Amino acid sequence: MAIALVDSSNGADAVVAKGNIACMADLKGKTVALTLGEVNHMLFLFGLEKTGVSPADVKITSMSADDAGAAFVAGKVDAAVTWEPWITKATKNGGHVIFSSASVPDTITNSVAVHRSKLASGSDAYGKFIAAIDQGVRTLRSEPEKAYPIIGKYLNASPEDVKGMLGGDKIYDLADNKQLFGTAEKAGPAFASMKSVVDFTVRRACAAAGPDLTGYTLYTTVEPCPMCFTAAWLARVSRVVFGCTMQEVTAATGGAQRELAVPARWMNESSGAPVDLVGGVLADRCLALFSPA
Ligand SMILES: [Zn+2]
Repeated sequence: MAIALVDSSNGADAVVAKGNIACMADLKGKTVALTLGEVNHMLFLFGLEKTGVSPADVKITSMSADDAGAAFVAGKVDAAVTWEPWITKATKNGGHVIFSSASVPDTITNSVAVHRSKLASGSDAYGKFIAAIDQGVRTLRSEPEKAYPIIGKYLNASPEDVKGMLGGDKIYDLADNKQLFGTAEKAGPAFASMKSVVDFTVRRACAAAGPDLTGYTLYTTVEPCPMCFTAAWLARVSRVVFGCTMQEVTAATGGAQRELAVPARWMNESSGAPVDLVGGVLADRCLALFSPA
């Protein structure tokens, strides 16, 4: 799980376009270089939202962010989704920025993630690690001229270059993290950002997998209801693994969680082409999710 956000792209990733393309809506029918499935593709889709232009109306050529920048500078494409130093090179070669990560703040982030079990061990190493990052961020803010050469030493870059790089980046201290994560009662804005990233990833995975899910396994906390089982079966999912049964959930919630009393096993047996159906995996822990806290 993520325990801290370190920084986010705040203009460091951008859509650059030729002079006759004034905004994202003008990209209809144009060629755009980007990396399919990567973060710059996601940024591009965010930029197209609300323009009325569908991604299908744009001719996308997939390549790395660096190659996209180079292709744009070479005049091979109308627009590119790229990063530095290509944004600067593009703007010096007749291009201009029509959308950037500065318009979707706190979304393209770098985070510190640890395994839940390690966190539960009670070690204060993680707290110390985050405190050290916080100290570094505070030094960067209070004494930037002292911090740039130190950072540059590790990035093999001049203090001047470091200053330029940080211009398109938003660095978070501990107070920013508290605001972004929020509390258990009230989730902060980081959750909505992460949801948009997950949605993008799931849509990409669905597009890549296609409509035939032969060979795939569906994992679910509760036994699938007749509707969900049918959807999985029609998509030819090969295996369904679940935790507790619908009957157990109905009992645990006193009927508050309504479920049709049609076990997945019955559906499977009468389907004529049964899937590999496995129940009872971590059933107690799955059922606990439905118990009042
Ligand atoms: Zn269902």
